[in-house]
Amino acid sequence: MAADDATVTDETDPALDSVPSGKEWDSELYSIATDQFTRAATLLELDPEFRTRLGEPRRSLVVNFPVRMDSGEVLGLTGYRVQHTLTMGPTKGGFRYGPDVSLGECSALAMWMTWKCALLGLPYGGAKGGVRCTPSQLSLGELERLTRRYAAELIPVIGPDRDIPAPDMATGEREMAWFMDTYSQMMGHSVFEIVTGKPVTLGGTVGRREATGLGVVYVLEAVCERINLELREARIAIQGFGNVGAVAARELYAIGARVVAVSDRSAGLVDPDGLDIAAIERWVAGHEALTGYPDAQETGPADVLEVECEIVVPAALERQITEDNAPRLKCELVIEAANGPTTTEADVILRERGILVVPDVLANAGGVTVSYFEWVQDHQRYSWDELDVQERLRRQLRAAFARVTDAADRLGTDWRTAALSVAIERVSEAARLRGIYP
Ligand code: NAD
Repeated sequence: MAADDATVTDETDPALDSVPSGKEWDSELYSIATDQFTRAATLLELDPEFRTRLGEPRRSLVVNFPVRMDSGEVLGLTGYRVQHTLTMGPTKGGFRYGPDVSLGECSALAMWMTWKCALLGLPYGGAKGGVRCTPSQLSLGELERLTRRYAAELIPVIGPDRDIPAPDMATGEREMAWFMDTYSQMMGHSVFEIVTGKPVTLGGTVGRREATGLGVVYVLEAVCERINLELREARIAIQGFGNVGAVAARELYAIGARVVAVSDRSAGLVDPDGLDIAAIERWVAGHEALTGYPDAQETGPADVLEVECEIVVPAALERQITEDNAPRLKCELVIEAANGPTTTEADVILRERGILVVPDVLANAGGVTVSYFEWVQDHQRYSWDELDVQERLRRQLRAAFARVTDAADRLGTDWRTAALSVAIERVSEAARLRGIYP
């Protein structure tokens, strides 16, 4: 329909005025993502054409499907897959399981994936997906049936050169193996490159499991060099002790940094002299949660963000640093290992307080970067060794950080807006060159 026709229709049919345009994606997280996009787009004086083309996801799939429980009952579940831009190549992004997973949440996370891939120079647009469920209440068999059905439901929109899922919260190598097997069964042959984050014996890459946490440390090293902070002498507090937080804690502990606080959803642990991360990992291996660990002071899960230290690493959930606790943070630097951990209001407070923020699209980009390495290796049918993976990861993250600081200097802005600006410039240039079909 031509633009003029649309205007006429709106004017002549008042009922259509009540249909809110673009509200499909509404969620608190999506507002944070669009606030960040708007700030960078305004600074860049981005052409309205690209604001429209990049401001909302290109494609979304919502599926309702049944899963048979062990009891014989049937549970109805809702799953999502959102592809933010199709301009840069296939789309890439994880899928998560959780009680709050929604279209709005996936849309925000898909948009951030676009910026992350563009900032890192990876040939992907952003995507994200998930299933709204409570994974801790599901048995192994129920989780497997859920994952296989979700994979089957996504077949119309995914493919090794269309959209390549990966792990996110509450999903990991096990789910990727089920996902890959389901897709392969449907295609009639093994398609390793349909997901990344797989077990190494199934076409996964060495170093993927640790990539996000390790990447956080590589970025942190580069940041500390830039701001003259001695990382090995810094006190660090980490919220979240899962795939990302525990690996970051282990790597920081290994290089001699003082990790003074960690938390998971069960508890926070604090020791101003530094925690014994190796002992804590052994505790978690035996007890599955931090709570009860005897050799540290126990606090609430969110309290670790307010511990006195130089570096805070939110590595758990979104929207953890808010206007409520941002005034109480006692650090010099926040490095966002989680996606979207800082609300728009908190971002302003941190900026005003002079606390530096390393944005998620850079800080946790190690995961998607090594996912890209895995996909390349799968396509090549050739495996790299761990050193190769780590060196390339370090190089790519450092180059991305240099792009961010260059843009921050050029545009006179903070690192988040600079990172998004680099990404938006890249994607909008690609969109301009491709033009509009037909
Ligand atoms: P995970 O499920 O492995 O771990 C999450 C951790 O957070 C767990 O330790 C959990 O107990 C803890 N947690 C949950 N609620 C909490 C609360 N209220 N307070 C304190 N801790 C709490 O997930 P993950 O893969 O480590 O992902 C963490 C974050 O990193 C997410 O935002 C995710 O999107 C992001 N991320 C992950 C990857 C990856 O490769 N896994 C890549 C990029 C970004």
